[in-house]
Amino acid sequence: MAGNDLHVGVLALQGAFESHLKIFRAMGIEALPVKSSQDLERINRIVIPGGESTAIQMLLESNALRQTLSERLNHGMPVFGTCAGMIVLSKVILDGREDQSPLNAIDIVVRRNAFGRQVDSFESSIDVEGLREPFPAIFIRAPIVESVGDDVDVYAKVDDQIVLCGNATTLVASFHPELSSDTRIHEMFLSLGE
Ligand code: GLN
Repeated sequence: MAGNDLHVGVLALQGAFESHLKIFRAMGIEALPVKSSQDLERINRIVIPGGESTAIQMLLESNALRQTLSERLNHGMPVFGTCAGMIVLSKVILDGREDQSPLNAIDIVVRRNAFGRQVDSFESSIDVEGLREPFPAIFIRAPIVESVGDDVDVYAKVDDQIVLCGNATTLVASFHPELSSDTRIHEMFLSLGE
């Protein structure tokens, strides 16, 4: 997809969506807050932000967005999930709430609040596949990826735990790249599907 055909949406039901809108603006891209199925029709790639995965799931369902979003993702719309967004997009959630059922948009098993037991939030400079300099990653009650399917590539680890991975159309991060002023992970997302 050519750069000028980008119609970026950020799911804006709950959580850190403003920070994603802001970082795209800083990159010269006007992203659309997505709150309804009509909004979904106007975009061709989407961010599921951090926040609270149980709340995001509930709001997707009560706003009748879940099915339309799932269909778009099944048809290959590029998606970027950060923290709670990664949990929502996963195939299997460990330590989730009983009624949590993820979208199964990427073949990963995630564990909620995996770092949070020891420490609520922290920053770590991480090496990312394809980036020349380390990335300043901010973790807040972060999940980890316990395992990935054959079609998923691992891009970064912290203490031997997977914190960034993806495939041709999906990128998921345990941390919050929208909270640092570094735009490189967002650029990785914008090049998905090209
Ligand atoms: N622990 C949160 C959840 O389960 C995610 C935290 C975050 O997005 N910063 O949804």
